[in-house]
Amino acid sequence: MDTSESARLFREASRVMVGGVSSPVRSFSFVGGTPLFIARGEGANIWDADGNRYVDYVCSWGPLILGHCDREVVDAVIGEVRRGTSFGAPTVPELELARRICSSIPSVERVRFVNSGTEAAMSALRLARGYTSRAKFLKFDGCYHGHADPFLTRAGSGLATQDLPSSAGVPAEASAALTLPYNDEGALEEAFRDRGSELAAAIVEPVAGNMGVVLPEPGFLERLRKLCTEHGALLIFDEVITGFRVSPGGAQGLYGVRPDITCLGKVIGGGFPVGAYGGRAEVMRLVSPEGPVYQAGTLSGNPVAMAAGLATISKLDGAAYRRLEGASARLEEGIVEGADSAGVDVTVNRVGSMVGLFFGPGKVRDYSTAKASSHRAYPRFHKMMLEAGAYLPPSPFETIFLSTAHSDEDVDATVAAAGRAFKGAGD
Ligand SMILES: *Cc1c(COP(=O)(O)O)cnc(C)c1O
Repeated sequence: MDTSESARLFREASRVMVGGVSSPVRSFSFVGGTPLFIARGEGANIWDADGNRYVDYVCSWGPLILGHCDREVVDAVIGEVRRGTSFGAPTVPELELARRICSSIPSVERVRFVNSGTEAAMSALRLARGYTSRAKFLKFDGCYHGHADPFLTRAGSGLATQDLPSSAGVPAEASAALTLPYNDEGALEEAFRDRGSELAAAIVEPVAGNMGVVLPEPGFLERLRKLCTEHGALLIFDEVITGFRVSPGGAQGLYGVRPDITCLGKVIGGGFPVGAYGGRAEVMRLVSPEGPVYQAGTLSGNPVAMAAGLATISKLDGAAYRRLEGASARLEEGIVEGADSAGVDVTVNRVGSMVGLFFGPGKVRDYSTAKASSHRAYPRFHKMMLEAGAYLPPSPFETIFLSTAHSDEDVDATVAAAGRAFKGAGD
């Protein structure tokens, strides 16, 4: 496979852009080699700058639940662009997307649009702190909530100690986070017993999608909900990935646990930069201009982005979710069978069209078990899959996403390639 044009462009990009990319994981640093420059996409396919075609399992890291260049999304965007790209004033597409979100997610009575998932999580935490007049918060190891300072920490030693910054440039006092292992109800009980009265919030990915895919075990989200309520802390579900992806009501719709604040992004922007946070009217009332918690944005609720999001979620009916489930189950079964017949141990964690592939025999239920999976097998697997025309995320700690455009034929070709790659990986 010739990727010399991508390699040439990457060398040029590295002269003018940090690391040659606009976001770190795109750099292929985990899997090695140089990133592919993508020239265009259509349906489930993308083409690189050398003209190679791939079935895309990154889907822009989650937003493209309908695949690339869905006709209705493109038409909605072009129609909106012709009316003007931005006004800094209320518009109808924004009202319609807000209505759609509030009717799909019962815990969200009022919503505020922002421009990214990072902004949504950052603002949700500020709101929880404003509402409770408390500073500390709980988060979970391996969950990602964007790159705002308070979330860029890792657990210090011992449960009750404050976390340490995990990025240069983040002052220790910016954090106030306590980090617990995912799916550990005992650690939850202990943390709330010791520090519950100091906590403004607990923030969690209700299905974790940033340490590979890790499902909440039965009872974990319910216990977290109960403890937050008992201790007067708000429960924030970061549904930036799961919102409209795992069900019309997100993960909270699937598991029946109601958070106080929900963060959205990715799918609700239909491929444009959008985020949102929302919750009960009584909580959201604290956000400016109604209340004292300040938060604003020049391009927030941008009509072109709103139109793309609205067109996207308008197509997510029962049939769309059935298709996503069918193609994703087919991929899961095919991968597991292929690995079995090659004698390679894999674990696949899946909720709907979020698929996590871990090498190794062990169950993956939190960050430490995810890290303990034999991820050193991944770079070679990734390379073989690329050469066979399947574009997987360039890290085993990212989610494999499917779209409604992924056909059985696309999935079967990928499964066949995976079968060969598993056999080759044993060589
Ligand atoms: C992607 C992601 C974010 C950050 O969203 P950006 O739009 O990249 O800022 C936050 N939370 C979760 C769970 C995410 O997956």
